[in-house]
Amino acid sequence: MGTIGRVTELSPHEAVNVFFRNGADLIDLEDELVDILTTPDRELAVQVPVRLDDDTLLVTRGYRVQHNDARGPYKGGIRYHPSADLEEVRALAALMTWKTAIVDVPFGGAKGGVEIDPTGMSPAEVERMTRRFTAAIRHVLGVYQDIPAPDVNTNAQVMAWLMDEYSRAYGYSPAIVTGKPVQIGGACGREAATGRGLFAVLDEHARRTGLDVGKLRVAIQGFGNVGSHLAIALAGAGARVVAVSDVNGGVHAADGLDVAGLVELARRRRPLAELAGTEEIDNATLLALDCDVLVPAALGGVITSSNADAIGASILLEGANHPTSPEADTVLTKRGVVVIPDVLANAGGVLGSYYEWAMNIQQFRWTEQRFDEELHKGMRLAYTTVADLAAREGVPLRHGAYALGVQRVAEAARLRGYADA
Ligand code: NAD
Repeated sequence: MGTIGRVTELSPHEAVNVFFRNGADLIDLEDELVDILTTPDRELAVQVPVRLDDDTLLVTRGYRVQHNDARGPYKGGIRYHPSADLEEVRALAALMTWKTAIVDVPFGGAKGGVEIDPTGMSPAEVERMTRRFTAAIRHVLGVYQDIPAPDVNTNAQVMAWLMDEYSRAYGYSPAIVTGKPVQIGGACGREAATGRGLFAVLDEHARRTGLDVGKLRVAIQGFGNVGSHLAIALAGAGARVVAVSDVNGGVHAADGLDVAGLVELARRRRPLAELAGTEEIDNATLLALDCDVLVPAALGGVITSSNADAIGASILLEGANHPTSPEADTVLTKRGVVVIPDVLANAGGVLGSYYEWAMNIQQFRWTEQRFDEELHKGMRLAYTTVADLAAREGVPLRHGAYALGVQRVAEAARLRGYADA
């Protein structure tokens, strides 16, 4: 999936920079800062050797790209995926810079990745790989320097190994990573934060545009952390989740799917198609489904100029990072599809990570209820700020979001004298 966008359109990093330019143009950003803000601060590429259970040695590559730290320590997830090469990680790191600024947390942007498909690997193999990767990048991490988090194919357990490996070298450091298990300093609510944040943004958008979120029909591509927690929130509000999919395909039911049943199947690693009373649906059909809201919540590069005309939803809520190419974005806007962009929509994850990091540093803990209240408040404020700016300027939400994010980062970079070299 990650490769679709590359073969037919701009590379992921070029694509992010097109969106950046839209925001930068809107605020008349000076050329010097354009150069600074489109150039990553640091790119680290490392060898990651993994001893497999059958005693063979697999040698792959890993990356940590630190894009910009004008507003605070670098922050961004780590993904394990065959398409997580330097180009993709670079694009995702830049997205984090704009996202942390849009949701107004005191972080910069970074991303990490290991070019591997971990799906067939044993937990012991994933642990060994995580420790080797951490050891290779730990000198650029730090509680006030760079704080990783989970992303595609990484989870709380992987973060626990990362935290432990870092702590072995530098002493006990729970704040070095977010998205940890609650038992070792994770925040109650962080795991669900991205999905719940997506819901908060959709709910606020519905309120503003006179829609009833409980009446919406929603299709979700990807049923991992983000997709499943969004589905649970939607079902809780009475909305109909009419289709979901994962890497193996998906299911559809016009009257709405049994979300609890799907969550249970995913937990037991069973095919989603085992859910009774549903019809199977492939990923291409899901994207084109006639519904109110389409949520890409898997990988990037899935909505391109080749399928943008076929999108059947009137709202595109971007759960995944960079799911839509600039060309497709233009087509969707012309067609009147409202795109709620990744840098705004899925920022609940990093907002929740900020709470976790702050709690670790200050050694206190919120209840899950408090965490959720703050998350909803923060996401609603981010949506409203972006929507007001976009309405004022007469531009789509993505332009407004980038203008806001770029403005905030540029102000910090100017105050800190980044261009005074
Ligand atoms: P995950 O690994 O938990 O889940 C990914 C899901 O996508 C799985 O259900 C997988 O089967 C599915 N998938 C993979 N390839 C697919 C394909 N070709 N077709 C359909 N489905 C496919 O990952 P996640 O953490 O839920 O992340 C999903 C997206 O959300 C990513 O783009 C990620 O960058 C973004 N995101 C995640 C977070 C977070 O906090 N986890 C925060 C912000 C953004």
